Amino acid sequence: MDRKTVNVGIESKKEVPAEALAAARHQLGEHNGINMSIEASNTFTFKDSDAMNRAFLGEVGPKTGIYIYSRHLNPTILNLGRQIAAMEGTETAYCTASGMSAISSVLLQLCNAGGHVVAAKTLYGGSHALLTHFLPQKCNITTTFVDIVDLEEVDNAMIEGKTSVLYFESISNPTLIVANIPELSKIAHAKGVKVVVDNTFAPMILSPAKLGADVVVHSISKYISGEADIIAGAVCGPADIVDQMRDPHEGPLMLLGPTMNPKLAFEISGRIPHLSMRMKKHCKRAMKYVTKMKELDPNLDVLYPGLKEHPQHSLLKSMSNKDYGFGGVFCIDMKTEGRAYRLMDKLQNNSKFGFMGVSLGYYETLMSCSSSSTNSMLDNKEKEIAGISPGLVRFSVGYVGTFEQKWSQFTKAYSEM
Ligand code: PLP
Repeated sequence: MDRKTVNVGIESKKEVPAEALAAARHQLGEHNGINMSIEASNTFTFKDSDAMNRAFLGEVGPKTGIYIYSRHLNPTILNLGRQIAAMEGTETAYCTASGMSAISSVLLQLCNAGGHVVAAKTLYGGSHALLTHFLPQKCNITTTFVDIVDLEEVDNAMIEGKTSVLYFESISNPTLIVANIPELSKIAHAKGVKVVVDNTFAPMILSPAKLGADVVVHSISKYISGEADIIAGAVCGPADIVDQMRDPHEGPLMLLGPTMNPKLAFEISGRIPHLSMRMKKHCKRAMKYVTKMKELDPNLDVLYPGLKEHPQHSLLKSMSNKDYGFGGVFCIDMKTEGRAYRLMDKLQNNSKFGFMGVSLGYYETLMSCSSSSTNSMLDNKEKEIAGISPGLVRFSVGYVGTFEQKWSQFTKAYSEM
């Protein structure tokens, strides 16, 4: 076992994510503690002025145990990044203050003013708004939105010499469209375009980098942290991209400052060892709910990639890591906003099935009407294009309580509709 906790740019082994993560965590803290150590200092000293000068010239750095300032690089955050890189099978990773800061920093790193992105039209509302409004208005970076399932449309949307990023979610929020990561990566790479995948909905289930993606981003706020109490993000990818993002003079992580607190990095590190177990629980219960729901009411419009009738059911099966299932989120289309609200009210207040809330990955079930919450940034036309109906209720499936108890709570509320 290594005594020191920090190691940068380790080439992650191509193992299944849980094994790679366990191997990456098998290290001791500074005083032989069985947890990683927290380096809380925001600034670091040097053995002499020459060493300080060389650090700022980039001649020495974390590989030789030299740090400058924690907005630039902090050993504890680097250590968490090393673990997340192992899970995603990327060369390296770094953690940020939120999922949105991870996404915006990657896009700003890979695109210059006048640049162009091709993105899936079904994205988390914040990412959609970033690409639709913020980046064109502030940076003259424009986006063409495409149907990510239509490979020809994706190919045709890429403008040679101008498009630098193809951006999509591995499983889309909230419409649960599964992206064909290997094929999309081939198409993009043939045109010199980098593939950036938001894997927030599918940690452990999918490993986009192993399937061809260049960069993987996460909202750690969801499954990875798992207790709906943390806002954090991660950027996973090759060292040349992630290191440039941390460049002390030019990198967006340094200049825009979306810095994670090292105490939070320690806390997150303590939760990822059970991410694998939690993901299996979320997936198993989601599958059980949708199966029972289809039996309860065959006319109920249930959306879940685990159902055989889901258009990308086989695709997800072919890409996913062994033993994880099809994700912890399903949707029910209640057709109207009124019926969606009624169902959620009953499920929260009459039968205690879950909570109304916009996040996901919590151990309790969270429900939201996507059109008027997480995707309310889209106008009606954009929602229609993205396939987000006004009555779509997204369920992030929790695993507390017994299935029988929770199912009886669901059926009680549903029978009152
Ligand atoms: N990506 C997806 C798929 C999300 O659902 C969200 C938030 O809901 C984000 C990114 C943004 O993450 P954060 O809230 O951590 O900034």
